[in-house]
Amino acid sequence: MKKALVFVCLFTLFQTAVFAQPGVISHRGSWKNTQHPQNSIAALQAAIDQKVWGSEFDVHLTKDDILVVNHDHDFYGLEIEELTYEELLAKKHPNGESISTAREYLEAGLKQKNTKLIFELKTSRISKERTMEAVAQSLKLVKEFKAQKQVEFIAFDWDACLKYRELDKKVKIHYLNGDKTPTEVAAAKLTGIDYHVNIFKKNPGLIQDFKDLGLKTNSWTVNQEEDMELLIENGIDYITTDEPELLNRLLNKN
Ligand code: MG
Repeated sequence: MKKALVFVCLFTLFQTAVFAQPGVISHRGSWKNTQHPQNSIAALQAAIDQKVWGSEFDVHLTKDDILVVNHDHDFYGLEIEELTYEELLAKKHPNGESISTAREYLEAGLKQKNTKLIFELKTSRISKERTMEAVAQSLKLVKEFKAQKQVEFIAFDWDACLKYRELDKKVKIHYLNGDKTPTEVAAAKLTGIDYHVNIFKKNPGLIQDFKDLGLKTNSWTVNQEEDMELLIENGIDYITTDEPELLNRLLNKN
């Protein structure tokens, strides 16, 4: 009986070591091969339908303090930070959707529990104070939904990452800008990092260095098969891609 138990434990360990595979994160939803606009609810729904591990989206704060979902600082030419939410409704995505508020986006995404929502807090072009205001509001919103287990934050602004941690000891926050060492990220008590793929191509061992300190590792935006292979071989935790279909095929092959 004891022997059988040891065997099962060893087998499980072996499986974990050999078959540990990264989670697939759709970058701005699954849009490229589905023809949905980036960061639209339709692209989010497509990612959910593909059962990816996570779906990433970008969030800015409007002039009248509404969090909205879009990558660029402008929504089809309308400057998000300089306009009110009402004013941004003058334009629509090509599929007819208006710009989503973060609230609407979370409401749609939280109808399910399989796919995590990867909330990128964009850095304000107006001031550090506006970035910090967006941090506070985004955290408040996620807490209102009681969705801290399903939503993970990412941000380029180091101070924004520190602010999330200051406001909440447990919320998941990953740093994007690629210029902090494993020791610095661990000292700041962040959840992990999400660095540009070129950083890991230059130094694949860096993935393990972060993991050795208990930090989660993710990379953006990984669209080439050879880059996906390199990250998989080096044991990365997550891969963020515009090509979730390609990455899924690759992982199913391994
Ligand atoms: Mg993003």
